Amino acid sequence: MHPWISDRAGSFDSSGIRRVFDLAAKLKDPINLSIGQPDFDVPDEIKAAAIDAIKSGKNAYSPTQGIEPLRERLQSEVAGKYPGHEDRDVFVSSGTSGGLMLSMLSMINPGDEVIYLDPFFVMYPALVQMCGGVPVPVDSYPDFRLDAAKIEAAITPRTKMILLNSPANPTGVTATAEELKQVAELAAERGIAVVSDEIYSQFHYDDEFVSPATYNDQTIVIDGFSKSHAMTGWRVGYVHGPSEVMNAMLKLQQYSFVCAPQPAQWGAIRAMEVRLDGFLADYRRKRDLVVEGLKDYYELTVPGGAFYVFPKAPVESGSAFVEEAISRGLLIIPGNIFSSRDSHFRISFAAPDETLHRGIELLRQLAKR
Ligand code: PMP
Repeated sequence: MHPWISDRAGSFDSSGIRRVFDLAAKLKDPINLSIGQPDFDVPDEIKAAAIDAIKSGKNAYSPTQGIEPLRERLQSEVAGKYPGHEDRDVFVSSGTSGGLMLSMLSMINPGDEVIYLDPFFVMYPALVQMCGGVPVPVDSYPDFRLDAAKIEAAITPRTKMILLNSPANPTGVTATAEELKQVAELAAERGIAVVSDEIYSQFHYDDEFVSPATYNDQTIVIDGFSKSHAMTGWRVGYVHGPSEVMNAMLKLQQYSFVCAPQPAQWGAIRAMEVRLDGFLADYRRKRDLVVEGLKDYYELTVPGGAFYVFPKAPVESGSAFVEEAISRGLLIIPGNIFSSRDSHFRISFAAPDETLHRGIELLRQLAKR
């Protein structure tokens, strides 16, 4: 290792995912079911709003909390959703990732423990460790449910935060209102922070999305425009929660990200007016197509949201199975990227139907062998 690399940076390993992409780079016409973003493009009116912003000179830093019209709109949306949360403030972050990073930096002291479900979004353990915290993954196999009893069993005197993600990456599983209520109330009783990563909140297919903030007014919610409006490269997210915590996060944002890109924030205002029903209905249909296509061939949990399915591999090693799939031209992600277990794999159904049909066909062949 280069002598300048910090222990912090040196301690991370991203070789698993890189290995997948190296293998993929060799493929000519891959069936790509690995992508973690929508397959539609940013709606035109949002593009136009950002272009207008650039052309009319809105290119400077914005206030660190975000441009006022966007922040105000978000604040009034949040106030409407959480009446009675007198102390709930909103700010605009540099993507959901920026919000997650700031939430760790502003709340986690060295040695503090952060509980989250395994399988988990890849960034979670890395972010916790970057801040000197201790990741405490709670095994949620085989059905990936949020079980308050398991969360409670993982709590110690050092537990500082419970990090929730529903709908979840990589499983697509959505927590029920009752499950969220139990965990939210448990955290409130024990004085533990709840951080809710709601980036997939719009992709909720079978019932209404519910936030743990409904049951615990101290919940810190992180959401953004990346997935809902296919704006992953624009880096606009937002965070809301108790004002003192938001102020701490803003202080750190000022000294790090500074602000979300200003033209993209003007695009985000327009995005708040765009109806997503058509896209979402299409994604529900894609979910059904993949589940129908695979359910007789693989052990899988039907995802209630996001755009992922997380089936069990038909052989012992999920990563060996994924290598086999990739060698046959199908790009999927091994479950051990998101988990301490290596038994499953992630499919993204944010792909054109034709790609989904080809992928299902190949997965059926692979299951039979
Ligand atoms: N949280 C989860 C669960 C995600 O899947 C992702 C994107 N893959 C993010 C956060 C990051 O999103 P953003 O582009 O807003 O940083």
